[in-house]
Amino acid sequence: MEEIGHWIGGKRVAGRSGRTADVYNPATGEVQAKVALASAAELDAAVQAAAKAQVAWGATNPQRRARVLMKFVDLLNRDMDKLAEALSREHGKTIPDAKGDVVRGLEVVEFCIGAPHLLKGEYTDSAGPGIDMYSMRQPIGVAAGITPFNFPAMIPMWKLAPAIACGNAFILKPSERDPSVPLMLAELLQEAGLPDNILQVVNGDKEAVDAILDHPGIGAVGFVGSTPIAQYIYERGCANGKRVQCFGGAKNHMIVMPDADMDQAADALVGAGYGAAGERCMAISVAVPVGDETADRLIEKLVPKIEKLKVGPYTAGNDVDYGPVVTAAAKANIERLVQSGVDAGAELVVDGRGFSLQGYEDGFFVGPHLFDKVTKDMEIYKKEIFGPVLSTVRAQSYEEALSLAMDHEYGNGTAIFTRDGDTARDFANRINIGMVGVNVPIPVPLAYHTFGGWKKSAFGDLNQHGPDAFRFYTRTKTVTARWPSGIKEGGEFTIPLME
Ligand code: NAD
Repeated sequence: MEEIGHWIGGKRVAGRSGRTADVYNPATGEVQAKVALASAAELDAAVQAAAKAQVAWGATNPQRRARVLMKFVDLLNRDMDKLAEALSREHGKTIPDAKGDVVRGLEVVEFCIGAPHLLKGEYTDSAGPGIDMYSMRQPIGVAAGITPFNFPAMIPMWKLAPAIACGNAFILKPSERDPSVPLMLAELLQEAGLPDNILQVVNGDKEAVDAILDHPGIGAVGFVGSTPIAQYIYERGCANGKRVQCFGGAKNHMIVMPDADMDQAADALVGAGYGAAGERCMAISVAVPVGDETADRLIEKLVPKIEKLKVGPYTAGNDVDYGPVVTAAAKANIERLVQSGVDAGAELVVDGRGFSLQGYEDGFFVGPHLFDKVTKDMEIYKKEIFGPVLSTVRAQSYEEALSLAMDHEYGNGTAIFTRDGDTARDFANRINIGMVGVNVPIPVPLAYHTFGGWKKSAFGDLNQHGPDAFRFYTRTKTVTARWPSGIKEGGEFTIPLME
């Protein structure tokens, strides 16, 4: 059986720890490969080599670094089909979704090509007599990224592209569930001209993650994954004096006002609730129709659309709306939560339980579920399900709907569907959530804006991609320089700004 190793020193290397994890084909339920799990010693060797290589890379002018990324974009486009196929085989998402995964990463790489402009510092001429002051953005040195299974191309690229554009070396610790695409990205970057050891891909589990968090040679750590792990990584990384940003789980509410275009709202909910089997941090998992009449109209429109969804393997092509979930454990967790909703008295309007696909009986497929009359105290409302399960919570007023979303512990994304500009504006201004859609169900900001949630959906003070990424992966240094020009005030130089 294939054993997937690491990418260290510009080549694929086998794991040396003797520990591996199974990599499944979620559509068939079969183990299709093993992935090496790095030891702390393997991680250390990768960091040491990265630190040595970073010195020259950090001193390379930003335009040359950007050219590597330009070429990388071309290669991503050249290999799009190959990348999407490898991604779907391990993750289970459909080919169009897999291509979307690559493209949303590629867009951030394109943004990072602007590094020469984004890294420009600030300059004050004549801050005092003969004195100039300037600040510059310098790389951190070695940075690391720990990424989740659900976007195995996009999120690694969100991390590695700005880090290396800023002149850092980067250690990527991808999800052990779908490790192939990150290694392919490393190969393409090498082909694009990235020097060896500037990107190291170290596969692993908690042992490798803890080694990253404790390693004195790593200055910054970016994480994306579930909230309990995000919080753990934030606390341990900060305690070790690192710069840390962690993005966690979500429970995204979509408010549907009585004046909304109900067909548009229902279509949006089906795409945002069930696309990629609900395994998106920006998926809508809670629909909040305002008023019982709105709720009845919405449910009536939703049910036939949800019942028509086609669930199957990515190999079935365009006939499939979404694929299996990632593991048997993920499937079992979703099934347990669905049962808890039924037991708590929520109305299961579309019942996807017992879903099975001929020829794929051992695959991790989950049928679509729609709950109505979910209440705030239910586990299905409080927890992130991360599966094709949409819960409807009926609100009696706009204020009640707003408070519902505001009181939830997660604050990643949200949306409101309405024809009323005043309500939409009020919602966007008052809501305590990081990304807001107005008649847009999945408001993922484009690469040149920043991405990040509030509350328990993010830890740390800078967002991903956009200008924040360049702040996260650099340190500011400010220089005050005096060059005597012969013009002196009483023989003394003064710095008025500091008086
Ligand atoms: P996860 O937290 O299980 O794993 C994420 C990473 O952490 C992986 O690389 C994994 O190896 C590592 N990890 C897991 N357990 C660990 C432990 N005990 N100690 C140290 N490291 C550990 O998350 P996942 O299941 O891969 O991804 C799904 C989650 O990610 C969902 O909660 C989803 O909402 C979230 N997510 C958030 C965003 C965002 O931007 N907010 C984006 C995508 C996914």
